[in-house]
Amino acid sequence: MEGALPARERVGVQDFVLLDSFTSETAFLDNLRKRFRENLVYTYIGTLLVSVNPYKELNIYSVKQMELYQGVNLFELPPHIYAIADNAYRVMCTERNNHFILISGESGAGKTETSKKILQYLAMTCPTTDHLQTVRDRLLLSNPVLEAFGNAKTLRNDNSSRFGKYMDIQFDFKGAPAGGHILSFLIEKSRVVHQNNGERNFHIFYQLLEGGEDELMRWLGLERNAQKYSYLMQGKCAKVSSINDKNDWKTVRKAFSVINFTEADIEHLFGIIASVLYLGNIQYEEDHRGHAIITDGTQIRWISKLLGVPLSILQEALTHKKIEARSEELLSPLNIELSFYARDAVAKAIYGRTFNWLVNKINGSLANTDPPRKTVIGLLDIYGFEVFETNGFEQFCINYCNEKLQQLFIEMTLKAEQEEYETEGIQWEPVPYFNNKIICDLIEQRHKGIISIMDEECMRPGEATDLSFLEKLEEKVGDHPYFLTRKLADQKARKTIDWVDFRLLHYAGEVTYCTIGFLEKNNDLLYRNLKEVLVKSKNYIIRDCFHASELDNRKRPETVTTQFKHSLASLMEILKSKEPSYIRCIKPNDAKESGKFDDVLVRHQVKYLGLMEHLRVRRAGFAYRRKYEVFLDRYKSLCPDTWPKWHGPAIKGVEILMKYLGYKPNEYELGRTKLFIRFPRTLFAIVDAFEI
Ligand code: ATP
Ligand code: MG
Repeated sequence: MEGALPARERVGVQDFVLLDSFTSETAFLDNLRKRFRENLVYTYIGTLLVSVNPYKELNIYSVKQMELYQGVNLFELPPHIYAIADNAYRVMCTERNNHFILISGESGAGKTETSKKILQYLAMTCPTTDHLQTVRDRLLLSNPVLEAFGNAKTLRNDNSSRFGKYMDIQFDFKGAPAGGHILSFLIEKSRVVHQNNGERNFHIFYQLLEGGEDELMRWLGLERNAQKYSYLMQGKCAKVSSINDKNDWKTVRKAFSVINFTEADIEHLFGIIASVLYLGNIQYEEDHRGHAIITDGTQIRWISKLLGVPLSILQEALTHKKIEARSEELLSPLNIELSFYARDAVAKAIYGRTFNWLVNKINGSLANTDPPRKTVIGLLDIYGFEVFETNGFEQFCINYCNEKLQQLFIEMTLKAEQEEYETEGIQWEPVPYFNNKIICDLIEQRHKGIISIMDEECMRPGEATDLSFLEKLEEKVGDHPYFLTRKLADQKARKTIDWVDFRLLHYAGEVTYCTIGFLEKNNDLLYRNLKEVLVKSKNYIIRDCFHASELDNRKRPETVTTQFKHSLASLMEILKSKEPSYIRCIKPNDAKESGKFDDVLVRHQVKYLGLMEHLRVRRAGFAYRRKYEVFLDRYKSLCPDTWPKWHGPAIKGVEILMKYLGYKPNEYELGRTKLFIRFPRTLFAIVDAFEI
């Protein structure tokens, strides 16, 4: 009988560091499973939080719960994302430094939900004034808008993030949320024109059709039926049982008014969304010369109206390509295939850029103009690692991004931590771990990595093909231990790898990528005459998104992956300058079901997330460290011997302070320049009590 078991037997331990049994993977898994069965989805490894997606509403996010966690020492209450958020907030306030919370895990593991709940916690529990109330509401309501435009149903997750998001929440010197800033990363534009079976386009399209007000729908000329729009039906799954598009539309509409959208903004924005739908319905037929002509003019008439572009040049741009020969410009008619390509390219371009415009617009409404003394907590929520039956360019980018974040995690925890013990002269038995830098290098190294090889091929238009790209890969990275193609594969692997594929051994598992479309998507070309049309648009959002400077042919834009690589590199720099907290999200099963704990699946995630290594380092290591001077300065007031002034060397002062605070010698170590505390419980409890 479960009820008769002692509590610990039944619910497991709330911090893996306290697990008595040796640190085996099985014991780890047992503890996680026990807790999951009791709806205890959070467990610590020291200060890192492991979260298992419950796939059901738990009663642990109420206002009462929020109040409970405020100002309480991390380990006094059951593990919770609120505790992590509160801890980051309090350290930020006392030490006046910047923080970030890295939320990671594969697609469907619960990153976005976690990030929203943390934002809610910070918005609800931090002090605020009337003026700041608006900022608070805007911060909260930026989420439904970005999710509507940037999330979609995939086979892995009904609300899958198809863009990466890093949000800084800015706090003023009183600790009140005073503004915010969002950085977005590479939205999956290809979804606008194509979805795999069982997947949907971005939520906003379906929300508009279901919920859009009659007047708006009339202005856009749309029918309330997703079946009518080719771009919405590629995955044959317009309705999703877990999603209420009509209600979500209402939330988005309300959010628009709070983040300062005018009716004109709405009209222009949805003019673009509707234009995308009309583009998808354009069909072509061949004339007697094999040139494409548009079958029915209805769609382009609507696009011309909604985007404010002349009908004739729009029509021409969707069926012709402008070629520059010497100083002359020639219009060359397109065949059907290329016309479809041009149509899809313009749909992807306007959606992708409108999404970026939206992020900028939200940033405008979150901007804080009061300069003094701002500190931030950054929340990182990106698209999780994903593997499908067929994986393309998009999965390559998403998985590369996850690879970078894993690298950051390793660098900032396992690697940095162990190196620090060494440089500080602390006795330490090294814990071995897998460093995924080798995979990051394989992808991004200059001249030698997959991205560079792809870029080189993109520089040979007309000659290079996806297959020549594959051959180049074989030639240049063929001997890499984490790379494989069919030609390189042995007999056994040959059965599962197609001749157009390459396979990467990612930190989170093997993924086979189909190279078809890689070069085209990396180049992301939009024919010049289409750009010319858009530059002249009377829709001011489109005009904001397409500048005449782009028409200058001398400038070759960076490829998609190179831009992505640069933006990830700058994200890494932003994060490295801040103090981290980590939440590692785990997906308990592939069926999106509550109460189901798939041992094999969870074990795999525990492994690749590096949780066992983290536990080993944590068990042997120190959760807290500070430079002697900083520590003394901050906490000297707690001890009469160091307050108000300490005259001797800082290390001596710290020693006296630690003794006074009741720490036993085995609970801390004195390094060359820093103090290391195994479990800094007492300290923070005292500081908190002092400050309240
Ligand atoms: P992706 O990488 O695809 O964006 P994700 O890690 O962001 O995935 P979420 O969208 O946060 O995943 O979660 C997937 C689904 O799991 C949610 O839509 C929700 O149904 C459920 N879920 C996640 N976290 C929780 C939670 N704490 N409580 C209840 N349900 C949750
Ligand atoms: Mg997400």
